[in-house]
Amino acid sequence: MNSKVIIIGSGPAGLTAAIYASRANLNPIVFEGDQPGGQLTITTDVENYPGFPEGVLGPELMDLFRKQAVRFGAECYFKYVSKVELHEKPFKVWVGDEQYEADTIIISTGASARLLGLESENKLMGHGVSTCATCDGFFYKEKHVIIVGGGDSAMEEAIFLTKFAKRVSVIHRRDELRASKIMQERVFNNPKIDIVWNAVVVDIEGTQEDGVKAVILRDTLSLETRKFACDGVFLAIGHSPNTSVFSGMLEMDKQGYIIIKNGSTKTSVEGVFAAGDVADHVYRQAITAAGSGCMAAIDAERYLQS
Ligand code: NAP
Repeated sequence: MNSKVIIIGSGPAGLTAAIYASRANLNPIVFEGDQPGGQLTITTDVENYPGFPEGVLGPELMDLFRKQAVRFGAECYFKYVSKVELHEKPFKVWVGDEQYEADTIIISTGASARLLGLESENKLMGHGVSTCATCDGFFYKEKHVIIVGGGDSAMEEAIFLTKFAKRVSVIHRRDELRASKIMQERVFNNPKIDIVWNAVVVDIEGTQEDGVKAVILRDTLSLETRKFACDGVFLAIGHSPNTSVFSGMLEMDKQGYIIIKNGSTKTSVEGVFAAGDVADHVYRQAITAAGSGCMAAIDAERYLQS
């Protein structure tokens, strides 16, 4: 089966690309992956997506994106791409044993926030546990929150959270931060932020109804555990781009993010475009991903025309 455009991934980038590509009569096929809707489906309220003055639930927003794409003829399949071949045209895409061919490919497989791997973290995700301070910080006015991690993201998010929270505790597993000196200084100089050194979160206490009440911290030196009361847990222990299936076929940076040409969504392979978090470790917002999805569809259309 040959398509003009195959879109891999169904977050804001992939589905926006699908809206634009279907309205350009390119009949895109979208392989949604194993988390249709992407990272927004594990958040609750989204209050920063323009056009929703009262806010919108993450899964609902993605459902609206999908409906809009389908309305114009995009075909969305709950399928996971297991293999691709990009060295000759048409490009080949496999879903298990099924093989598809496409003249262009838009990669929008996103990135996944690294998690601690706790059962309680899974249960309370979106109910007091978050991987995005920009998205959820607003819900913690005058609360005490913790942020896990010692890198630039953790520092940036800790500072951001002080706009709302009355206290922010950074929980870091070592006795020095990985973050740049300037970010460290800002954190050290912020009276609302304190740092708990040599500590890891081994459990999170709370319920989906009432949110987080406390975490259990283990001291990495003494191995002793203690309860640490807090109202919210923000994880900032890094992200991993979902690019393993493209490894060796496209130029990527050392963290595995796809490198795109300035001001476009073009990758190192002509006819293959990348949009959203898979090529962006800086902004990582639904609206920026959607914007780049639109760019990818326009880039694909122009490539096909030429
Ligand atoms: P990162 O630099 O990889 O830092 C991740 C942090 O999480 C590290 O401190 C790490 O601890 C900790 N960590 C990892 N796994 C953990 C676990 N299982 N339990 C507890 N802690 C864990 O990631 P990032 O902060 O997201 O930054 C990614 C890149 O973006 C970096 O290059 C960063 O400089 C850049 N960035 C820049 C800015 C800026 O300049 N404004 C803002 C954000 C990000 P260890 O230190 O012990 O390894």
